[in-house]
Amino acid sequence: MHALSDESRAIVDDVLAYSRRRALWEDIPLDLPVPPEELARIAPMSITPSGIGAQEALALFGDVLAPACLSTDHPGYLSFIPSAPSKAAMAFDLIVSASSIYGGSWLEGAGAVHAENEVLAWLASEFGLPGTAGGVFVQGGTIGNLSALVAARDAARRRNREQGRRDPARWKVIASAESHASIASAAAVMDVDIVGIRPDADGRLHGSAVRKAVATHGDAVLAVVATAGTTNFGIIDDIASIAEVTRHHGIWLHVDGAYGLAGMLVERMRPAYAGVEHADSVIVDPHKWLFAPFDACALLYRDPSIALRAHTQHAEYLDTLTSAVAANPSDLAVQLTRRARGLPLWFSLATYGTDEYRAAIAQGIDLAARLAEEIERRPGLSLVRRPQLSVVVFRRDGWTAEDYDAWSERLLASQRAFVVPSSHDGEPVLRIAIINPLTSYALLCEVLDTLA
Ligand SMILES: *Cc1c(COP(=O)(O)O)cnc(C)c1O
Repeated sequence: MHALSDESRAIVDDVLAYSRRRALWEDIPLDLPVPPEELARIAPMSITPSGIGAQEALALFGDVLAPACLSTDHPGYLSFIPSAPSKAAMAFDLIVSASSIYGGSWLEGAGAVHAENEVLAWLASEFGLPGTAGGVFVQGGTIGNLSALVAARDAARRRNREQGRRDPARWKVIASAESHASIASAAAVMDVDIVGIRPDADGRLHGSAVRKAVATHGDAVLAVVATAGTTNFGIIDDIASIAEVTRHHGIWLHVDGAYGLAGMLVERMRPAYAGVEHADSVIVDPHKWLFAPFDACALLYRDPSIALRAHTQHAEYLDTLTSAVAANPSDLAVQLTRRARGLPLWFSLATYGTDEYRAAIAQGIDLAARLAEEIERRPGLSLVRRPQLSVVVFRRDGWTAEDYDAWSERLLASQRAFVVPSSHDGEPVLRIAIINPLTSYALLCEVLDTLA
């Protein structure tokens, strides 16, 4: 590390040149994971007392390490939830890195926080939350869900104290059995219990089931979690009827829309999300369906002052910050130091406009519907259910889990697509998630052809 030297200039130039090439690749390789022994052999020790130099390290990354990572923005990456950062978002992420912005406090990052807040306010209004809603961009949906539930418990405890009531022996969170694993993870971290409700035949959690669970667990319930787009199927819970119950009982409603809430930006999809406007907290991940790079989760609170009370960290050296007028992003979640990770989304939205976002999300929904129709047309394939968002789950009749695994491996080895099997009610199934505007109908048909 030196002051600005020729060496520093060369390092920055080389890294930016690499980034430029990668960001503008037309034919993104899908790539393959490499076993640990093999990587140990082909990626020799690079951490040495005198360093190996930027050029050698960059070559090692480009030639050996990067090809051992799947490109989640490849149009054939159809597993889990793919990523499809826009060029604007991807490029701006470099600026965030170059700018050394501390995004945790208003004092240090006012400009960045202002821009992030504009995005959060726009999302809040799209979701029907009041103008006083606010929040913060955190690392991902897992941290967003945890932070929201911690705020919910804090609110429930304060209310008990105000009303002279004792806290329950065990706090409980009500959620659908189809809710994301991060809800169970948050409950484990908080040491609270999950009341998991099997969804109805339509796959959704309804208010009637929540009402029964509340009747059983009463004051021990710190929050109800509704999922706006399950990860496995893209199913949106019946949020309106759930919200009726939570409002009647004064229970915190958290909406986990990490993947699927982006769908609400499409006008014709809005009715499916009715009730979100009653949420006390909401999350949506820009790194999923809002075309931003890893990693970011927009966490919104109906009343941010509740989150502030639950999350503000106190320390003498932080006192100047916590006494500042404007809210500090770090005071709204489980975190302190924070990258201004909402800025790539801000730049992308500012660049393209919200209409283009709505259109790109609608395209994924339409493509999933077309794929479902194609699956129904093809003999030997059957849909497990009609897609509501951009996840299509189906089966190849007669195949066992081993058949699916072997097929999936062959498909990845062919470098055409990455589709891993999933399961539903114990049955192995195939699951295709579409996020990337570059994923084409032709490519999806090619994948189906390999199942013949
Ligand atoms: C992906 C996902 C999460 C977790 O988000 P991360 O950003 O991966 O931590 C939570 N809930 C749902 C519904 C998800 O799809």
